[in-house]
Amino acid sequence: MNSRHISASPFLGPGAFIKQRQHRLDAATKPFLARGAAIARCASCLLAQSHCLCPWRKAFAKPIAVDFILLMHRDEFLKPTNTGRLITDAFPASCYVFEWSRLTPDPALLKLIQDPGRVLSLLYAPTEFSRDAPLAENLLALGHPSTETSVSSLPHPKTTVVILDGTWRQAARMYNHSQWLWGLPCISLSTNPQQPLKFQLRKASAEHRFSTAQAAQALLDTTQEVDAATHLGHLFRVFQAHYQASRACQPYPLTASHDYLGSGPQGAPSHFEHKTP
Ligand SMILES: [Zn+2]
Repeated sequence: MNSRHISASPFLGPGAFIKQRQHRLDAATKPFLARGAAIARCASCLLAQSHCLCPWRKAFAKPIAVDFILLMHRDEFLKPTNTGRLITDAFPASCYVFEWSRLTPDPALLKLIQDPGRVLSLLYAPTEFSRDAPLAENLLALGHPSTETSVSSLPHPKTTVVILDGTWRQAARMYNHSQWLWGLPCISLSTNPQQPLKFQLRKASAEHRFSTAQAAQALLDTTQEVDAATHLGHLFRVFQAHYQASRACQPYPLTASHDYLGSGPQGAPSHFEHKTP
């Protein structure tokens, strides 16, 4: 994916989340009063200005073998707690961002999902939903008969994972009202016998204990994108440290994840500068 293509799409690239968020704000008929709505926030990372995350929002320096389609509930664009946007920060050339629509899904989204050059799957356990969906127990097996083959060694088709970003109830509703998703095999990370995960995604999503970014991190681990998973994990931990310190009205601690993103071997500059609204 070249940079010209990235900049030409409002759904891909470093600014995709903010562009789609602005679209949501423009379409809103009433203000969204999230917790902490009165706090002066950075217009780029949405955290309190005193706890701005932007200097550490660095992209992973290498291409990854997986494309993500982040299909977001409209509320997620407005929540400072949303972590799906960290996936776009880490992999701007590999993460498409769309607002979910029950009645009018974006044509660009449908085109991606119907792209014959992609092998698509959905990151959620099918038993979470009221409709049955085919189950892909191992992402490495998607579209390929051998689970021994690394995704990164397969140039075509492109492994593409749709992530429903919302609360568990919202994600279930999004799925049930999106007929164009029903044919996709669902990834059940918790049932991968080859590489046990650090947590059980299905249980996590039900209890709201783990985030969208952590789910993507776990998925990358299963696709042998270990370095990319590590990068996203550091980004999540910095986000978590800043957000929690902000809520506690305390300075954020500088952690090993700050060091990694500040001077690590990934070396990519931050795309983002602190912005006041
Ligand atoms: Zn910021």
